[in-house]
Amino acid sequence: MKVAFIAAEIVPFSKTGGLADVSSAIPKALSDLGHDVIVITPLYKSIDTEKNEIKLVSENNLAKVGEKEEVFDLYLSHIPKSKVPVYFVKNHYLYREGVYVDTDGIDYKDSPMRFITFTKAVFKILENLEFSPDIIHANDWHTGLLPFYLRTEYSDKDLFKRTKTIYTIHNIGYQGTYPFESVKDANIPDLYFNEDLLGFNNKLNFMKAGIVYSTIVSTVSSKYAEEIQTKKFGFGLEKIIKTRKDDLYGIVHGVDLTIWSPKTDSLLVKNYDSRNLKGKAECKSYLQGKLNLEINDKPILGIITRLATQKGLYLILRKFDELMKLNVQIILLGTGDKTLETQFKKKEKQYPDDSSINIMFDNVLAHQIEAASDMFLMPSEYEPCGLNQIYSMIYGTVPVVRKTGGLSDTVQDFDPKTKEGYGFVFEKSTQKDFLKAVKRAVELYYEEPNTWKKLTKRIMELDFSWKKVAKKWQKVYEKALAKR
Ligand code: ADP
Repeated sequence: MKVAFIAAEIVPFSKTGGLADVSSAIPKALSDLGHDVIVITPLYKSIDTEKNEIKLVSENNLAKVGEKEEVFDLYLSHIPKSKVPVYFVKNHYLYREGVYVDTDGIDYKDSPMRFITFTKAVFKILENLEFSPDIIHANDWHTGLLPFYLRTEYSDKDLFKRTKTIYTIHNIGYQGTYPFESVKDANIPDLYFNEDLLGFNNKLNFMKAGIVYSTIVSTVSSKYAEEIQTKKFGFGLEKIIKTRKDDLYGIVHGVDLTIWSPKTDSLLVKNYDSRNLKGKAECKSYLQGKLNLEINDKPILGIITRLATQKGLYLILRKFDELMKLNVQIILLGTGDKTLETQFKKKEKQYPDDSSINIMFDNVLAHQIEAASDMFLMPSEYEPCGLNQIYSMIYGTVPVVRKTGGLSDTVQDFDPKTKEGYGFVFEKSTQKDFLKAVKRAVELYYEEPNTWKKLTKRIMELDFSWKKVAKKWQKVYEKALAKR
């Protein structure tokens, strides 16, 4: 199959969250299965073109956006350790320091026009390359208008005659809802703005466009596929999702083991595997030293996250004092909400020897926390797939998670009788239930070290490789191709 995979962020070039990890992993895994995959993404100012060996292909290409011809330069590199070409669109709308927000964390006001321009450039690139895709795979709100344009403006073009679209929802909490006025330069005919098509409470909704116009809709866990059909998790799009429920699939992500494996991770001071956990202990004392924590055997509770309400971080904040009483250390890495940042920093002041709050985006530290921690906290209110609980398991770090979305699909609750399970799962988003789950974990750590060790080894041996997942994607692509 010929596949064009389109996303706003792609590791190792750009990243704000999980979308970036999987936008490089899915194309790579599909290419490993023998498919002809190309990736197209924006070029941001923050991308180091030299380090990433990104080369100029052509200048002054034109993409028609409304009445205007938008000029863009085309660049090319590859997904590391693969044959997959990555094309970059450089245009004044896109070429900014951040992906979605400026250096002060403020949303770019012209994001709707930025991503429409990107979308139109994608079509132009495919035309220039004469790349006739079987599948265009669009992701999240930024590329929601791709299936729309394919079915309208580009429907007569020979190049796209047999093209089908997959639209993947990575997080329905971010829909790209903007006043119609904000896209007036795109000249989308008014008739499309009605509430059955692109309109949503009298605004343009990018994600809705993706859902309405794509051949197949997918999301990133089977639990989340159910959840987004409900009022609580659908953020207003539940009805529209339900209309597509026969074409809706939920596939949990795999892990790129060339990046996330304690056996080979070059960002760790010591590598280790399930048969020899000594390296993990070294990673722990190294990180305690690096972050000026007391070097001791207390279990480390790791947290790596966008500081957003979705992530259930108030549960951690409100129970911080009681967590510390359990004789643990807490290491947090995250950026985002300013109130959360300040409140967590206050807690660090209270417990300087046993807590380390790192307000930054730091990939090296993220890997080191995964390796050094004993437990990993994800008390999310909702979590479409979640990657860190999976990375944690691979690194022998026991996840404590709320039973939602991908967390529910991937973490089986530990049963004290049978000693089976992969982590500690709680149902309700309450402080009480959260604390209870952490307590269960910490108690097992202190009171049954052998059971703990076995649990650690067991989760490290689970199979989260992309190979298995890629076959599921292939099936979904085949389903799309079979559709009229
Ligand atoms: P989401 O996409 O909702 O942010 P995921 O769990 O799917 O959540 O993916 C988050 C990804 O971003 C993980 O790879 C995680 O390690 C990374 N990440 C999040 N915050 C940071 C940070 N402050 N520094 C480094 N990596 C981070």
